[in-house]
Amino acid sequence: MRDLPLATADGATRRRAPRHLADLDLAGRRAAVAELGEREFRARQISTHYFGRLVRDPAQMTDLPARTRGRLAASLLPRLLTPVRELTCDDGATHKMLWRLHDGALVESVLMGYPDRITACVSSQAGCGMGCPFCATGQAGLTRNLSTAEIVDQVVSMAATASSGAVTGTAQTRLSHVVFMGMGEPLANYARVVEAVRRLTAPAPEGLGLSQRHITVSTVGLVPAIRRLAEERLSVTLALSLHAPDDVLRDELVPVNQRWKVAEVLDAAWAYATRTGRRVSIEYAMIRDVNDQPWRADLLGRLLAGRLAHVNLIPLNPTPGSRWDASPKPVEQEFVRRLRAAGIPTTVRDTRGREIDGACGQLAASEVLA
Ligand code: SAH
Ligand code: SF4
Repeated sequence: MRDLPLATADGATRRRAPRHLADLDLAGRRAAVAELGEREFRARQISTHYFGRLVRDPAQMTDLPARTRGRLAASLLPRLLTPVRELTCDDGATHKMLWRLHDGALVESVLMGYPDRITACVSSQAGCGMGCPFCATGQAGLTRNLSTAEIVDQVVSMAATASSGAVTGTAQTRLSHVVFMGMGEPLANYARVVEAVRRLTAPAPEGLGLSQRHITVSTVGLVPAIRRLAEERLSVTLALSLHAPDDVLRDELVPVNQRWKVAEVLDAAWAYATRTGRRVSIEYAMIRDVNDQPWRADLLGRLLAGRLAHVNLIPLNPTPGSRWDASPKPVEQEFVRRLRAAGIPTTVRDTRGREIDGACGQLAASEVLA
């Protein structure tokens, strides 16, 4: 299966990421180990290193005989992510990693310490094909989907960083939350993302043992995929990037709206909320004089009234050369006031990592431009 050409939706031929133990469940790892002529308990042993102890370097797995270790490493522990840059800001509470994948594609992850939690923000694709004009990742287009293990390895790597005590601003050392808000559209890489969620939430040594409730999948609004996700029996939080309550504006800000309209995508979100009992997070980037008018706050309030939802306003992080800017604070406050008056729980996202291009895709974009 390794290194077979993989046809992507746009017809381009890309090279598949090497197989890694995090692509497989424990039964699959046992079978792979047996195929190598090794004893099956080795599968549990290397899984305990990787998911239980957060050890990714085979050289440190010293309880394995050298020959066995070499074989297992070659077959199940290829290096997936090579660090290109690590930047920290917010006095060490935010760490941003830029990784190079085996084929040279670049992706990024962010690790954030909060008083009560440590959150990892991960990428699901190299680039993104959805073309939202305010988003740095969207400008570069899609390079390829990440494999399950390329997604999981971002989290395991950041969990190791967290456990070393490198994240400040928190009393925690255990990574507890994951948000799919890095590069890419998670639901456009559906099967691998769902598999990654299963791996992150399976108890060790099968997986990382995170709580499903601590995982958030953010989507631009791929309606059939949202409906499918509702049937997966996963208690993950769905974040819907709405950004406009009306089709005229959303068609422009979120081009996929030309296919699935505001009413349709909200219907799918309510179906998700009903099926899972989870409150949907409506993401809304505040863009000066574009989507921040009081009447749009009122319209949004009417659309969400009585639903299992809350609104998360994101101050726009302007991308280089963009004609758009963040809304002024008083405008943002009025937007919040109107939503709350309509009974909608509303928060404003903190602007973590601004000084290190913390928003979606901006570090990878600056590396490409450099
Ligand atoms: N593709 C998914 C998840 C990745 S983007 C999605 O769009 O939901 C994560 C969040 O960052 C989304 O809500 C997205 O709209 C937002 N975002 C993208 N670019 C931004 C920018 N320049 N400023 C503020 N938020 C941005
Ligand atoms: Fe893709 Fe999300 Fe960026 Fe839109 S906002 S281009 S869906 S990553």
